Amino acid sequence: NLTTEETTNAKKIRKLVQIPSLSESIPDNIQYLLIGGGTASFSAFRAIKSADPTARVLVISAEGYLPHMRPPLSKELWYGDDTEMAKSLNFHQWNGTSRSLFYEPEPFYTPVEELTTAKNGGISLARGWKVESINVSKKKVKLNDGKEISYDKCLIATGSVPKTLKLYDDANEELKNKFSVFRSISDFEDLWEQLDHIKSIAIIGGGFLGSELAASLANKGKKNGVKIYQIFKEKGNMGKVLPKYLSQWTTEKVRNEGVEVVTETEVENCSLENNKRQVNLKLSNGKNISVDHVIMAVGAKPNTELATDAGLEIDSKLDGYLVNSELQARTDLYIAGDCACFYDKQLGRRRVEHHDHAVISGRLAGENMAGAAKPYQHQPMFWSDIGPSVGYEAIGIVDSSLVTMGVFAKGNHKDPSLLANETDQNTLTNKKETNEELGSKNNETISENDYNKGVVFYLKNDVIVGIVLWNLFNRMSIARQVLKTDRCYKDLNEVAKLFNIHGD
Ligand code: FAD
Ligand code: NAD
Ligand code: NAD
Repeated sequence: NLTTEETTNAKKIRKLVQIPSLSESIPDNIQYLLIGGGTASFSAFRAIKSADPTARVLVISAEGYLPHMRPPLSKELWYGDDTEMAKSLNFHQWNGTSRSLFYEPEPFYTPVEELTTAKNGGISLARGWKVESINVSKKKVKLNDGKEISYDKCLIATGSVPKTLKLYDDANEELKNKFSVFRSISDFEDLWEQLDHIKSIAIIGGGFLGSELAASLANKGKKNGVKIYQIFKEKGNMGKVLPKYLSQWTTEKVRNEGVEVVTETEVENCSLENNKRQVNLKLSNGKNISVDHVIMAVGAKPNTELATDAGLEIDSKLDGYLVNSELQARTDLYIAGDCACFYDKQLGRRRVEHHDHAVISGRLAGENMAGAAKPYQHQPMFWSDIGPSVGYEAIGIVDSSLVTMGVFAKGNHKDPSLLANETDQNTLTNKKETNEELGSKNNETISENDYNKGVVFYLKNDVIVGIVLWNLFNRMSIARQVLKTDRCYKDLNEVAKLFNIHGD
């Protein structure tokens, strides 16, 4: 078995795969240039090829892997019993079928050297290469070794990058080695390997990543005897998204998975201890914990490092490249996915860091690059799974500081009249008037089981702006329809009935 130090060294010497190895093989000019090898870029090249079958598309990706999806990295990959399957980045989907993380196998891509001469065009991938700058007026990009490529149409789909903690930024290298972020395949592989050698790990952050990963690691950790801590400042898991009662209920589920969840707490300081084998975390609740490793799951920021040189505008509030409805930042320059700040004509300017938005905005950008000129009008959804018993989908603005009203199936009864509703406690204290308008039974006590399945509405000026479907699947089209009507509903229980909560 490797020690933690040896694992860290192995991680450092893992070399970035760079294919092709020399940039001379990469074309000097190209019809369609896609910057980024993530989901938005994948979706764009698929759309370009179907609109323009002989298109020549060059994808430049800073990652050493073929384009792939990220969601299973913090969920499905940790659950299967088959270690070899996980190592080969295959996983079982929710419906039992197996699937690869990679969107397309290697032979799908035309070798970069052949792209300009291939009779029917093709899609080529230069991986391990980074675009350093864009000259928007000359329609040229520069790679990290200085090579220039000119384009007819270009897409920036550079995604987002994990944020780090200030105490990490200020730490020395030795201490930094005990910390990691989690976003890529190599982060998954490193963590997978580490879990065989360590006895304790702390995840800092209570959002999507921290909550999904804590539950997943606890599942794997049970077999290896690894203790998992999750530390964050909110009152419960997903506290910024879920109403308080639901967030607290979810926290209990995460605890039941074996995670020691430390809420309303921040990490104030850290230092090496036990012969530098462990990190001591000094917490704002006065306690100290010692762990072998720390994962920072403290949010992501859009990757807009190409903006300054290119003179592209960044949204001052939401961050991300500002785009018009056709997802253009400039003529012949498109933006999609996490790094795009787009206008949602119903809900205002937004930036969305989720899979479905990457798929649909990437597809639209691709279609527009091939000449379609269509506006982005899709209302993106997202989903999350936190351990085996919490799965939800959501659409619109789901922010726990809004007024919320939830309707849940009572117990396990199939009788649709047995619904229990719940208004967020914050809402109860702050927004009594809204409660009365909703006519909800605020004081009804709902037993633990009652949050197993339901729907939560998020309201602004009494209009539904967001919906969470709690352990309730295949109803997203209804949610999308409800959101679209932009109406002030008198009785949300009636709206909840549309979702047929007891239906399956
Ligand atoms: P990314 O996937 O980040 O891809 C960006 C690409 O650009 C990368 O390949 C990067 O290396 C490359 N790049 C960046 N700069 C350059 C450059 N200068 N030159 C060349 N290449 C560059 N969403 C959900 O809805 N549901 C989920 O369950 C879910 N689970 C997730 C789990 C994890 C662990 C993570 C990290 C995210 C999850 N998400 C989920 C969010 C979702 O994966 C992202 O919203 C999505 O990946 C965004 O796609 P993108 O193409 O915009 O960016
Ligand atoms: P997040 O924004 O969901 O959660 C961030 C968490 O870190 C919060 O608990 C916040 O309070 C905490 N935090 C922020 N700054 C902090 C600081 N300085 N000190 C301590 N705590 C701090 O982001 P995430 O969970 O890190 O996710 C990363 C990215 O991956 C996001 O883009 C997210 O959308 C994406 N992701 C999405 C899914 C999904 O859609 N199901 C799953 C995993 C990851
Ligand atoms: P997909 O076509 O595999 O699934 C999308 C549909 O499946 C949605 O309508 C969703 O409501 C339904 N669904 C998801 N989880 C379900 C569950 N546990 N029980 C019943 N129905 C469920 O999605 P895709 O576009 O191929 O997305 C890519 C990845 O996203 C896949 O790995 C897929 O498993 C995953 N995904 C997961 C969830 C989830 O776990 N909640 C939801 C949607 C997609």
